[in-house]
Amino acid sequence: APLNIIPFCRQLKEEIETTSSNHKIDFSGNLDGQIADTSGIVQIDKKLLQQVLTNILTNAIKYSPDHNLINFSLTIENEKLIFTISDSGIGIPEADQINLFESFHRGSNVGTISGTGLGLAIVKKCLDLHKGEITFNSQLGQGTTFTVKIPFQRNQARKAIN
Ligand code: ATP
Ligand code: MG
Repeated sequence: APLNIIPFCRQLKEEIETTSSNHKIDFSGNLDGQIADTSGIVQIDKKLLQQVLTNILTNAIKYSPDHNLINFSLTIENEKLIFTISDSGIGIPEADQINLFESFHRGSNVGTISGTGLGLAIVKKCLDLHKGEITFNSQLGQGTTFTVKIPFQRNQARKAIN
């Protein structure tokens, strides 16, 4: 079924905020009228998108101090949805950036923050299967930004809402 992308992101943001009483996520969705239907309906696998964004957003929360704001944005470039998730948390040491998407790899600076090192490996697999891309930029002790690009199909039918 077609997905109404902006309400979907807003809802995800709210769901994830309820799992952490100490972090807020600022969502901004700017499609600039680039999807013909102003409500922003697209064809994309909802489960996949939810899995990918949830893993990245929960990392942003987990690896940043309490009361830090997470920025989550959606834009469109060519035929791709571009999601960015940025935090001002602990960052990723350069030596750990190379294998970041491999299972069980965790940064040397995680300290007592618990995790299995599987979240990003799953994200990468999901995106590979859907011709998506993921990149990141991180400064140790300053923060991290993940960018996810996923091709989408514009939806022709106005009638279909979520
Ligand atoms: P889980 O399997 O529960 O997700 P995890 O969070 O340790 O465990 P990944 O989500 O795969 O595993 O992340 C791998 C590693 O990348 C993390 O252990 C952490 O070192 C680093 N990392 C990921 N996201 C961030 C972030 N936003 N800020 C700092 N480090 C991060
Ligand atoms: Mg994780």
